[in-house]
Amino acid sequence: MSYHVNKEGFYGEYGGAFIPEMLYASVENLRSVYLDLIAEPAFQNEFKSLLKDYVGRPSPLYLAQNLSNKYGGQIYLKREDLNHTGAHKINNTIGQILLAKRLKKKRIIAETGAGQHGVATATVCALMGLECIVYMGSTDIKRQAPNVARMKMLGAKVVPATSGSQTLKDATNEAIRDWINNPKDTHYIIGSVVGPHPYPDMVALFQSVISEEMKWQLKEQTGDENPNYILACVGGGSNAAGAIYHYVDNTDVEIVLVEAAGKGINSGHSAATSVLGSKGIIHGSKTILMQTKDGQIVEPYSLSAGLDYPGIGPMHAHLIDTKRVQVLNATDQQALEAALELSRLEGIIPALETSHALAVLGQLSLKKKDRLVVCLSGRGDKDLATYIDYLNLDDKAHNKTDGK
Ligand SMILES: *Cc1c(COP(=O)(O)O)cnc(C)c1O
Repeated sequence: MSYHVNKEGFYGEYGGAFIPEMLYASVENLRSVYLDLIAEPAFQNEFKSLLKDYVGRPSPLYLAQNLSNKYGGQIYLKREDLNHTGAHKINNTIGQILLAKRLKKKRIIAETGAGQHGVATATVCALMGLECIVYMGSTDIKRQAPNVARMKMLGAKVVPATSGSQTLKDATNEAIRDWINNPKDTHYIIGSVVGPHPYPDMVALFQSVISEEMKWQLKEQTGDENPNYILACVGGGSNAAGAIYHYVDNTDVEIVLVEAAGKGINSGHSAATSVLGSKGIIHGSKTILMQTKDGQIVEPYSLSAGLDYPGIGPMHAHLIDTKRVQVLNATDQQALEAALELSRLEGIIPALETSHALAVLGQLSLKKKDRLVVCLSGRGDKDLATYIDYLNLDDKAHNKTDGK
């Protein structure tokens, strides 16, 4: 039995391609060629050399000794924060831009919430000289001014999505609408393991470089390619998918996913999809999402803009249903504290999304021999304003965090 996608594009009962008629040709075209194109030696060579020389891979696997001393076990950090543009998202956009070129597409569209995926897409479009249009909710455009500026600097056009709550799901709807209207010349770069088949599998495949490297890095450092645990935060689920890809069928490796509880699971301001969600269809795939009884999408909330998506990828929905993974959650406050703790203990300022994963370390009761890898999905530069607002850094200037 495998936890990977089947030939029909399903993970158990989740996934598939539930799309309007008008999108069928574009999605079907992609589905019929993606595996062959990606497997071509010329594609692999170009992908690998860009990951190495442009992105800066392999990203280090770092044994965080101070963090390990505090929580027990041997805690390794997979440093996706050191990638060009500061997160794992670039792995996927590099892969998809190479695919778009082979499909002879001239125009690239993307959706973005916090702007991280928009920046990663604008970056690869600049690199390849392709036109780039990024849809972004008007609310997010106001909240994420530095990333909007980055995208513009890189030559992308940022189009405000003015419907609904004017956030990520609305931007996604606008991007889908654009794709329907421009099926011939346009490739849609989705930013996570969501959307109609083949996107979840394709994005997971591009992100799988994370666990591919973990295997040989762990072998080199510990003599064993398997960790006991892998820990990752989940928005749509792409950094987690990449970190578990080559381990998911090996049930000796425990997988812990962490969702954003926002102001608390039952506060009405949360993005803990697996707890609050139910089965339904969103953005072209069957999965678990936050919705009302009538199927209206419930607005998710998290202080970290990268985690407030109302669904999760179909792969993760299946992993949760089959109990292959354990899902925990962390509130805004717990994530903020974890960000400060990693900064003070290891000299690494993590993204607020990643900090949700770090926030549950204390709940795992690690034994001394346990090896755990945290996917450090991104760096915290983009979150500095939030950290300044919430952490009272002046008062904490000379304090050490607990336990040190
Ligand atoms: C976008 C983002 C996430 C969440 O997206 P996934 O698809 O779940 O990985 C997590 N961490 C960082 C740093 C991000 O930018």
